[in-house]
Amino acid sequence: MLKKKSVILIFIGIGMISSLVVIVGFENTDFSSILIENNPKSEVKISGFEKNHGFFKESIAGNLEDDLLEFVNGKQSLKITTNGDGEEVIIKKDNILPKIDFDERFLKTWIKISDVKKISGLKISISGDNFDSFKTYWIHKNNTSPSAINFRNNQWNPLTISLTQTDHNAVNISSIDSISISLEDKSTGSVSVWFDELSLEKNYDKGILTFTFDDAPDTQYTNALPILAKYDFSATSYVPTNWIDKSDRLSTNELKELQDVYGWDVSAHTLNHIDLSNSKYEDQFEKELYQSKQFLLDNGFKKGADHFAYPFGTFDNDFSMQLVKKYYKTARGVIGDTETLPVADQYRLRVMYISNFTEPIDVSKRVQDAIENGDWLILVFHGIVESNANDRHATYLKSDFEQIVDGIYSKGIQVMTISEVYNKILN
Ligand SMILES: [Zn+2]
Repeated sequence: MLKKKSVILIFIGIGMISSLVVIVGFENTDFSSILIENNPKSEVKISGFEKNHGFFKESIAGNLEDDLLEFVNGKQSLKITTNGDGEEVIIKKDNILPKIDFDERFLKTWIKISDVKKISGLKISISGDNFDSFKTYWIHKNNTSPSAINFRNNQWNPLTISLTQTDHNAVNISSIDSISISLEDKSTGSVSVWFDELSLEKNYDKGILTFTFDDAPDTQYTNALPILAKYDFSATSYVPTNWIDKSDRLSTNELKELQDVYGWDVSAHTLNHIDLSNSKYEDQFEKELYQSKQFLLDNGFKKGADHFAYPFGTFDNDFSMQLVKKYYKTARGVIGDTETLPVADQYRLRVMYISNFTEPIDVSKRVQDAIENGDWLILVFHGIVESNANDRHATYLKSDFEQIVDGIYSKGIQVMTISEVYNKILN
């Protein structure tokens, strides 16, 4: 069932994510919910951006300063500001000792952006040979960056960036001694970016893949299940619980079979698929979030009942976000490309959204990246159809789905549901 904002989702597959920036955002910083602080032993600190941090401005354009009022830890953060005319601002730190090994690790940091819509590029580059060769971690790239497109303006956001989200060039990253940060605006006015707590975390030792399905079309049972069951793969189905047993939707019995026989999670997606970013529905938020979970528990769907997906992928509302945290252990969006393990924030899990335009080969490449870099690749499907797949109904062609599943099996990546990843890896 496609409502007006779902139409926006179809653009994800063809890279036009800019329209989403407007409607999707992040919650207020809540340090207690952030899992990236796990495994402190494996952490390599690069900079807390405290006094004498060593970063200097290399470009003529822009401004660099220590901000003593805005920070996550310590006493200050680093603030970079553009001139507002599109000129690139580059800051740098050289001669870092001891040299840092970036191999088999992902980057993590805290970042705050005054206005994401004004940015055309934001990246961190690393080098071991004075930038004759270098590797770039993209935070924001023409509105299609995998990581930061959905930051809420003017708030601190935790960010992790997998090696998957770097340029795929052959650079030796095991002895890095220079780091640069580059910021460009769209010539629509000056923009500021703050950084705090730049560090590295050890990758999970292997990739994990999760199949998720939204909105409960009955083709999840008739078409997707037999293909997944060939390989004993389970999935997570996010169900608007008031849609169960409706025409062309999954029945209670089918959902029971998916969980009890095939190991699926049956998880929450509100009662009626309401838009949790729209304050017009604010008086319904708690009922939609609480009663859908209660329905799952009352009907024996215990396995997945603690896990939630935002209808339309929208979560730009502090009030609904607080309620989601009250009732659920994870929440999944519809953007982001790939997630790290540990995750940046379990209440905005990043995913690869599968649209009608997604080719099986696109998924195959991401699976390979996930295996190499220890990512958590969460795929988002809706209905799986024999023919006439289209974005209006968020459907995907069964033959292509089968090709994706066969490829995932042949690559040997471990397949787990959302609740299994939460219980066995995140928790
Ligand atoms: Zn949905």
